[in-house]
Amino acid sequence: MIKSALITGITGQDGSYLAEHLLAQGYTVHGLVRRASMFNRSRIDHLRTGGQISPERLVLHYGDLNDLTSLRRLLKQVAPAEIYHLAGQSHVGLSFEIPEVTVQENGMATLGLLEAMRDLDYPVRFYHAASAEIFGAPAAAPQNEATAFNPVNPYGCAKAFATQLCRVYRSAYGVFACSGIAYNHESPRRGENFVTRKITLGAARIKAGRQAVLALGNLAGQRDWGYAPEYVVAMWQALQVATPRDYVLATGKSCSIREFAIAAFAELGLGLKFEGEGVAEVGRRTDTGAVVVQVDPRFFRPAESTHLVGDASLARQELGWAPQVTGAAVARLMAKADFAHEQKVAG
Ligand code: GDP
Repeated sequence: MIKSALITGITGQDGSYLAEHLLAQGYTVHGLVRRASMFNRSRIDHLRTGGQISPERLVLHYGDLNDLTSLRRLLKQVAPAEIYHLAGQSHVGLSFEIPEVTVQENGMATLGLLEAMRDLDYPVRFYHAASAEIFGAPAAAPQNEATAFNPVNPYGCAKAFATQLCRVYRSAYGVFACSGIAYNHESPRRGENFVTRKITLGAARIKAGRQAVLALGNLAGQRDWGYAPEYVVAMWQALQVATPRDYVLATGKSCSIREFAIAAFAELGLGLKFEGEGVAEVGRRTDTGAVVVQVDPRFFRPAESTHLVGDASLARQELGWAPQVTGAAVARLMAKADFAHEQKVAG
């Protein structure tokens, strides 16, 4: 039987890779897209225009997480076997500026979907894209599924709320709901306002002579950075098990923003040297002596998550999932992709 899946957030980084993965597994994929005055489908255009995927196998539906009546109608119409709920305001820094939208989309909309699932008269499996941000500033590292929630920003609060609700609906109503507690995962499709992409795009444009300076915030932070195409496989695997549970999805390796930047610039043949301490720290290109990385307080956050590094032993044992690409390797492949794009545009 052909399985069908519904992806909320199909036009995002993870949604687009997940759509590719599910299509390769033979699924019919339905995607929820927001009606907007500008199309924002560049990450899935290749799937829709390449001619390899028939339009019946990849179907886009207009809908909005804030309009649960239409979502319920869509669930009835599509009757997916699996729902991957990836949509929502995903930028931590921005969540301090638009906390209500962030909590509405990441928290309340997830609750609305869980409620809608309770009322369905057919079985459906639900993946909730949780985040390492639910741990915020944890007491110990690495974190696993048993680590206490301690979010330090509105985004993390919303994800913690939704993660706990998935647990409640699982135990109270027997809903097949699972949260993937994913640590940062990046790719050339990452949004340009995330620090990884900002760095690799900056490095590519500086190399191409189209940008002079890269302004960043806190360089000292560390993240457990993985490669998004590997993470979407775990999302799918998490819904193929007999009993739903939550999984930490992480590489287990920590890399600082500074190290990430050095690796990205080095991939393009640019040396980067850091001078000074703390906020005054800046990067210099070693070949020209020019300052290319500037610390700009505009990009500082009111509070920073700390010590976020994950222990994905459970996912390894139960799903056989073992991510290969980490930290500096992610930086290198993103810088390479961004520079190749720069050259294509220029050429
Ligand atoms: P997050 O882990 O989901 O918040 O992913 P981000 O890529 O947005 O941020 C990762 C880390 O990079 C955080 O500690 C930020 O404070 C830090 N950072 C430093 N400079 C910047 C910047 O210019 N933009 C962003 N987005 N983050 C920055």
